Amino acid sequence: MKKLLLGLTGLLLLCACAHNADTATSHNLLPIPQEMQTSKGHFTAGEGTKLYINAPADDRSAIANALAAWNVALEVAEESVADNCIAMEVCDKLESVTSPEGYTINVTKERIDVKAPTAAGLFYAAQTILQLADGGNTIPACTITDEPQFAYRGLMLDVSRHFFGKEFVKKQIDAMAHFKMNRLHLHLTDAAGWRIEIKKYPRLTEFAAWRSPAIWKDWWFGDRRYVEEGSEGAYGGYYTQEDIKELVAYAAERYITIIPEIEMPAHSEETLTAYPELSCTHEPYKQADFCVGNEKTFEFLENVLSEVIELFPSEYIHIGGDEAGKASWPHCPLCQKRMKQEGLKDVNELQSYLIQRIEKFVNSKGRQIIGWDEILDGGLAPNATVMSWRGTEGGIAAVESGHKAIMTPGGYCYLDSYQDAPHTQPMAFGPYMPLEKVYSYDPRADIDSTKAHLIYGIQGNLWVEYIPTEELVEYMIYPRILAIAEIGWSNPADRDYAAFRQRAIKATNNLREKGYNAFDLANEFGQRKEAQSPVEHLATGGNITYAADAPYSDSYKAGGDRALIDGVCGGWTYTDKKWQGFIRDGVDITIDLGAEKDITEVTAQFMQMCIPDVWFPAEVIISASSDGNEFSELGRIEHTVTRDEGLSFKEYGWNGNAKARYINYRAKCGPQRGWLFTDEIVVR
Ligand SMILES: [Zn+2]
Repeated sequence: MKKLLLGLTGLLLLCACAHNADTATSHNLLPIPQEMQTSKGHFTAGEGTKLYINAPADDRSAIANALAAWNVALEVAEESVADNCIAMEVCDKLESVTSPEGYTINVTKERIDVKAPTAAGLFYAAQTILQLADGGNTIPACTITDEPQFAYRGLMLDVSRHFFGKEFVKKQIDAMAHFKMNRLHLHLTDAAGWRIEIKKYPRLTEFAAWRSPAIWKDWWFGDRRYVEEGSEGAYGGYYTQEDIKELVAYAAERYITIIPEIEMPAHSEETLTAYPELSCTHEPYKQADFCVGNEKTFEFLENVLSEVIELFPSEYIHIGGDEAGKASWPHCPLCQKRMKQEGLKDVNELQSYLIQRIEKFVNSKGRQIIGWDEILDGGLAPNATVMSWRGTEGGIAAVESGHKAIMTPGGYCYLDSYQDAPHTQPMAFGPYMPLEKVYSYDPRADIDSTKAHLIYGIQGNLWVEYIPTEELVEYMIYPRILAIAEIGWSNPADRDYAAFRQRAIKATNNLREKGYNAFDLANEFGQRKEAQSPVEHLATGGNITYAADAPYSDSYKAGGDRALIDGVCGGWTYTDKKWQGFIRDGVDITIDLGAEKDITEVTAQFMQMCIPDVWFPAEVIISASSDGNEFSELGRIEHTVTRDEGLSFKEYGWNGNAKARYINYRAKCGPQRGWLFTDEIVVR
């Protein structure tokens, strides 16, 4: 009987959820609230509507300011009245929500009552009210009980590769707040430019913040020089300490915490050119990593962090920690001395020494560190939170050892990748990652349920190597950050991509009206047509063998031995597990159709994307045989392989009339060698 009851409860919950998602979708709420029920009628705001907010003064004005975006003038009142009133109250105890950011809303014809355990909850309720009003002055009668899934719902903006001014950052803060996001991580330092004023080290901003040329790609693949501030052609910039205070306050009024990132020990070319004595060799323009053996390094980092901690009230300070080459450390007498003294067995432990020592310093100031997942190498600092980017493994390892993790895996959360068919898009850094892919991510996937509470949250990261303008930054962020916002806030049981897409189209249209250069989701081109449904052809029922000297790569095996005759074609990226990859030795496969058949066509598509070393073949030879021993050539396709930008596809095939049981398909690399990728050998 107990089981039956549980089953019934489960069923009821499921019904409530489906209903909840539909209701939220019909009112265009994004993110979806945890529970929403509508009833008949609506509240009309207008002449004489009172707004009563029972919260500390700063919060009161922050929440009233948020509601000022509504096109009805509300009268701020000192007390709640029975009719025509919006009453918002912080309550010590609110039993229906457990998160400090939760809230309840009750809308009747007469009034709107909002309750929350903290002012942040009232602020999020205000955003929900704005979304329900949708530019009008009526709010449907309803009850909403809402709170986030994750405490950390973030966006990272790289302001080093290209610099974006404070007004632009504020504009993004406004949008984040509207979708209930609460962390803005600023990547303030990197090779391409230092972006924050540090009083003790003026060369960081009068020199290391400026470069020529302006476009990162030209600078990085050129001679990577820094120039003096104000010199001819100098590109760059930085936030003064006053700018930072202004941004921090602006974000705080929208219940967003700004987390500063100061990179160490790597990604520090700009610092080590301005202050070369902090590198192992003391040569400008030569080193990316700080010298960990030198005490001056710690003096510098601690001085910088002291000023940073003064400026940012954030509990967390991000200390980078990613992609250290560590190349100079084995040859540096000071680094070697440090390793001997501290009993460190390799350079990973030397990096860990630096991170742990910096953590102690940051902890001594009452703060905590976040680092990219490489901080796991050589031993994780005792109180660190890990930001998992190279996949989810770093985050999983962190929570398994009792640390918190913020999930930002590249395949789902890197907003610098293509959001639509690459040939329709401006050049991007990463592979095809449409809104649907982002939305499919579950930060708690593969996490043991006893550790799930250590998943602190999710973040979308925008690196801007290929994104030089503000317009393009917004284009890449919106609408994909909306998927991050909803994953961070809403119940995973309410996840329904088709319904979300509708809401996201509505939200991006609103953003565009407000002057954000959002991607036009309604006119999305979509997935490669070949990948949308499987194909049937003569080889799909056959067998395939690979020549021993031309195996497919274990890293890109797609469906394995049958991948090239399984009828499944690849999409816009070779990382979608549908493209089979061959490195250097080319393709050499033989298909057995099972019996001799009349054939008229043998074709395969190849992909070219030169930056990751993926090339078209220079030659393809297609041969046929009746017995599997004697092959005669059906066709030979030659192609001069040349470098190009972006992504392209090319068909290598034969058409004619022949009888064959066995078909041999060989593709040879051009002078570039590198990778060949194909998805299906189609025989008709
Ligand atoms: Zn050194």
